[in-house]
Amino acid sequence: MEDLSAFCCHNERCPDYGKRGQDNLRVCFRYGPRKQRRLLACRTCQARFSERGGTPLFDARLPEDKAVAVLHHIAEGCGVRQTGRLVGVKHNTVTRLSRRAGEHAKESHDELVAFSPKDP
Ligand SMILES: [Zn+2]
Repeated sequence: MEDLSAFCCHNERCPDYGKRGQDNLRVCFRYGPRKQRRLLACRTCQARFSERGGTPLFDARLPEDKAVAVLHHIAEGCGVRQTGRLVGVKHNTVTRLSRRAGEHAKESHDELVAFSPKDP
């Protein structure tokens, strides 16, 4: 039995949307290189989604360790081209992944932080 407690249904019309630990998810099948990614299904609404869905890694088209390395370099202040050279990816890939991570961080912030002081 796989631990799926960190995941939730992504279907906004589902009664279990966004709720973790509801035991409503199951693994449909595995996909991707070496079949290491899971496609999950909600037993409540039958929706299917990637375990990477809703994360900056969804459709990243990079192995996870390489995508994480790109974001580590950016987080440490490396430039886009410098990161691309160090990790071995094109600078456009660095830009795309960084933009996605930034959007995801903003969405997470907006959902998790009740109040943010206004930036003057
Ligand atoms: Zn659902």
